[in-house]
Amino acid sequence: MKEFAAQWAMGYFPRDYTDVFQGLLFGCITVILAFRASDSHTRMRKFILSFLVSYNTAQMISSFLYLLINRYFDFSGTLWDFLIASACLLFPVFPLTSLYKKVLGVKGPAAVFIYTLFFNANCMAMIVAMTTMQRLCITAGLSVFLTWIFRNDIRYIITQESMLRTDRRFTGTAVAFMILIAAEAELPRIVINGGRDTVGNQLAYAVAIVGAALVVMFVIFMKFNFFAIMQYENYIRKNDDDQTTCAKSFTYLLGHSAALIRKNSDAGRSMAIFYTDIENLRDVNVVHGYDAGNDILQRMASCLTEVFPGGIIARASGTHFTGIVPFSGSKNDFEKIISKTERLSIDETLAIKVGVRPLGSMSFSDVNKVDYKYLISMVDQAASAIKYISGPGSGMLCYDEALELNEKIRTHVLANVDRAVRKQWLKVYYQPVVDCITGETAEYEALSRWTDPLYGFLTPDKFIVPLENARMIYKVDLNVLRSFGYELENVEATGRKALPISFNISRTDLEAEVDIFEEIEKIMTDMKIPKDMVHVELTESALNGSASVMSEAVNRFHEMGLEVWMDDFGSGYSSLNVLKDYNFDVIKIDMEFMRKFDHRSKTIVSSICEMAGSLGMRTVAEGVETQEQYEFLKSVGCTYAQGYLFSKPLPAEEIYASPIRCFQADRIH
Ligand code: C2E
Ligand code: MG
Ligand code: MG
Repeated sequence: MKEFAAQWAMGYFPRDYTDVFQGLLFGCITVILAFRASDSHTRMRKFILSFLVSYNTAQMISSFLYLLINRYFDFSGTLWDFLIASACLLFPVFPLTSLYKKVLGVKGPAAVFIYTLFFNANCMAMIVAMTTMQRLCITAGLSVFLTWIFRNDIRYIITQESMLRTDRRFTGTAVAFMILIAAEAELPRIVINGGRDTVGNQLAYAVAIVGAALVVMFVIFMKFNFFAIMQYENYIRKNDDDQTTCAKSFTYLLGHSAALIRKNSDAGRSMAIFYTDIENLRDVNVVHGYDAGNDILQRMASCLTEVFPGGIIARASGTHFTGIVPFSGSKNDFEKIISKTERLSIDETLAIKVGVRPLGSMSFSDVNKVDYKYLISMVDQAASAIKYISGPGSGMLCYDEALELNEKIRTHVLANVDRAVRKQWLKVYYQPVVDCITGETAEYEALSRWTDPLYGFLTPDKFIVPLENARMIYKVDLNVLRSFGYELENVEATGRKALPISFNISRTDLEAEVDIFEEIEKIMTDMKIPKDMVHVELTESALNGSASVMSEAVNRFHEMGLEVWMDDFGSGYSSLNVLKDYNFDVIKIDMEFMRKFDHRSKTIVSSICEMAGSLGMRTVAEGVETQEQYEFLKSVGCTYAQGYLFSKPLPAEEIYASPIRCFQADRIH
């Protein structure tokens, strides 16, 4: 083996010292292109490292390999020889390119591209040159010439966040050219001549011309590619800043977040994505003009940049900013932004809402998974946290596990409401409404429950509000009526007495895509439900919408022959007007009065009962839980009482399993 290595060295160095020279050139050019600004120590280190992984090393390995294979197998002058020689030429290039990538400290394509230029120069010299000196000159000249032509392009992929850094097609093209040129370099030497040295016959000249043409094509093709992509990316970069606020654009945020997350996770810092909303800015625009509104947005943007200098702040749209910032879990920074922005209020009080989606501490593999899709979903989650900030004022909320579950349930409910009706995940529970004089159950309130195969038992707060917001709650409400229709058939079939129900109608039912009145009418006719068996409950907050829509609704239900009950009376701000303007049959007093059962509440309840009585309306007290409350209600003339004192809402099977219950005062404990 020693003897073989010596033989290889004797053959290699006198013939291929051109590669050593090119290796030194490779080191110099690498330092000039990528490390010109570094200190001399770094420059020297990079020079040596580049030299060590240069094409010189690749050539040494390939010639050693080729000689070794030829020692055991004799392929000389055959097609196999050509293939093996080309493969030997290419094989060491790949591990060395990957090492070179580490020397440069950038992603693959930049390293592959520089390597390709030197590889092409070297192979081109092999094809064209007749003597070693010619080879040396052509290799060196062409290496310098090619890197000079591409100097700006190379610097661009090394320093800029470019799509060229991640596009595999770019690397693929460079590698394909390397393969072609390697084949060209071996072709005249082996296939045409069958020898080991450069030859000069006509075919070899033809190959040399094709090789030269190939390199020219490569240069033109790559130059054009770089030109087009750099122009495009520079155009996008120019639009990175939002014209009004000078915050970054949303596209910029998406394009640069991964690098920022990587940098912070290397430094052991956690990050978060936030989303903001300014309420009332529209009023500022209308009253004080758009310049005043823009000024507030600009100041908020600069406040965000000031508080989070290490983050990216972008304007998502209109009044919304979003950003990715270091986040330790403390709310202080966001509270500072909220109070600073609130102080910008002119006449209208600005309310600033901030949703925060913490990204937690990310491992190296997690960071690699950060892409557009991931970022958009994080921004979306930060934005959805805003929806859960209660109250009209400013506030901040973090997207945590509980909120995540809520969101999952919300989207699940929206996607599955039809299925829930079909598969009877939606069930109706009944709660007795008790006559205060006789103590007998006068009727039931029908309340929906959702038993989900994935999330289990869902209470109304989990599905009613999302469905109301999506204007789909009518599906649940009509399901209540339909279910009651079936119960009615069953009860009557067993010869028992059925009681009426009151069922809840949401305001959004009146704005739904279907005509709710027609639908109710249709179900009642189809299922033969008598008009006096169904009462409609409308909540007081439903009146917050258009007054005409509501009074029209009350009238329509009356025309249909249905009683209309006012639910949660006293929970809104327009209670007395409600009594004045709308013609309700029954007033259901909000359960807050029972919850806080003090002297004031008692006085109010007593007055409501009296007033309603004088106006010819009946009253129901909701949330009755104690005997004391029940006694009081009887004493003030409340018509009905409803609450856990009598029964929780129960499924139909349980309600109809026993005879209708009578709740005489002395029997309730
Ligand atoms: P609501 O119409 O005011 O219904 C009364 C709520 O009070 C029910 O809550 C009931 O379980 C609860 N409740 C009854 N007695 C007591 C008591 O003594 N103490 C306490 N703490 N609570 C009592 P639920 O079933 O959770 O319903 C909440 C709200 O959801 C209902 O308020 C109603 O506005 C809405 N809702 C329920 N089912 C439907 C439906 O099918 N359609 C529509 N549109 N809304 C519905
Ligand atoms: Mg109700
Ligand atoms: Mg109520």
